[in-house]
Amino acid sequence: MRNYLKHYINGEWVESTGSDVEEVINPATEEVIGKISLGTKEDLDKAVKAAREAFPSFSTMSKDDRVKMLERIAEEYEKRKDDIIETITDELGSPLAVSEKVHFMMGYNHFSQAAESLKEFSFMEDMGGHTRVKESVGVSGLITPWNFPTNQTSTKIASAFAAGSPVILKPAEVTPFAAIILAEIFEAAGVPKGVFNLVNGKGDVIGDGISSHPGIDFVSFTGSGRVGKKIMQNASESIKNVALELGGKSPLVVLEDADIEQAARTAVNHIATNTGQVCSAATRILIPNSMKEAFEEEVLKVLPEFTVGDPRQDNKVGPLISKKQWNTVQSYIEKGVEEGATLLAGGTGKPEGLDKGYYTKMTVFSDVKNDMTIAEEEIFGPVMSILTYEDLDDAIRISNDTEYGLAGYVVGEDKEALRKVATSIRAGRIKVNDAEADFAAPFGGFKQSGIGREWGDHGIEEYLETKTILGYPS
Ligand code: ADP
Repeated sequence: MRNYLKHYINGEWVESTGSDVEEVINPATEEVIGKISLGTKEDLDKAVKAAREAFPSFSTMSKDDRVKMLERIAEEYEKRKDDIIETITDELGSPLAVSEKVHFMMGYNHFSQAAESLKEFSFMEDMGGHTRVKESVGVSGLITPWNFPTNQTSTKIASAFAAGSPVILKPAEVTPFAAIILAEIFEAAGVPKGVFNLVNGKGDVIGDGISSHPGIDFVSFTGSGRVGKKIMQNASESIKNVALELGGKSPLVVLEDADIEQAARTAVNHIATNTGQVCSAATRILIPNSMKEAFEEEVLKVLPEFTVGDPRQDNKVGPLISKKQWNTVQSYIEKGVEEGATLLAGGTGKPEGLDKGYYTKMTVFSDVKNDMTIAEEEIFGPVMSILTYEDLDDAIRISNDTEYGLAGYVVGEDKEALRKVATSIRAGRIKVNDAEADFAAPFGGFKQSGIGREWGDHGIEEYLETKTILGYPS
């Protein structure tokens, strides 16, 4: 049992001022694996006070010392590798290999990338008529979701630390344990007291408290559009800047000359990774009319490789995070059938033999129209929608016919077509032919997918204010 009933405030593990606790469930077994305290506004006030006290010295810590601090964090993070992998598999239900290659690695890469980006970052620039200075935005409140317990926390924290901004983190209450390990890592790495504060709790108490707190200067949030809008409204009271990383309904455009087997594998991989609980996943697969049958055949061939089951066994796909999420995914699958899409694979209910755990079937719909609910709304589960297009302009039109703009994908050979699609999709990140990840590349959305950019130097920028000085003596 992991019972973490304390918050981490001002460099110490402290009792909650409230008595409410929340049980944490392993989604693969439906068993309680531990508890956390649900923080109160009083706990949050204490954390804000600690962060404000830490601000003067941390915001003026030399760049060199901040680089060294981030490097020490990356080292300490690596030492906790086994713990992090085990914890994420327990709280998220992610297969062990995914916990290692995706979740553990993303956290590590954000800390080491932030150290590298910071080395190159210029905080003062002589512009001729004026001098431009970048200074820490102040105390930052970070609110994170459950689908990537180390990725979203680490990218925000690493960027804030690089910028000299003390933070208060409220991780998702369903996956709180990875953040406890992060607090221990920061302690081991000698992060000054008050620079990192962790207050566990409910979104409508601690999350709401963070977005409306007058002592917090900036809020970075990842999660649903519904909560993102609320955070923006709350932040407007004190004219706080916000960074929001929200949902997506990203297209994957398969060109006529694409390797169809590879394209099918890519498409299935998108709904399999993290059980489709990925905001940037490609969930609308756009196929030329002429290739529809061949593509469907390839998808059905590839699908059995992506076994659903116990994340501690050799499976590719684990359960969904919760009963609530399971119900949501089921209702989207029902809606797809109701609205007339062709169910090619999967469907409602649990996969055979998996009665315990929030497992759902890998589901593929074909003959999907872009105005069907399953093509318009983010499902956050392993559900693929196959749509067809006439020509490249049609593919681009369908791709952009969405309120979202987080990511876009294109696969094929023809360079001109690849470039055209990549530059025409209105989204924050485009990937051509399964290009490798780059942790220096900005991440964030157009349209209702959010505001701001995380990762690398753009991530650091989020936690900075620009000051101009006229007549600065050289
Ligand atoms: P998801 O649907 O991925 O759980 P949410 O947007 O519901 O996304 O939650 C993401 C994070 O936002 C979680 O840490 C959650 O506790 C927090 N949250 C939920 N409601 C609010 C709120 N009203 N204000 C601020 N944060 C909230």
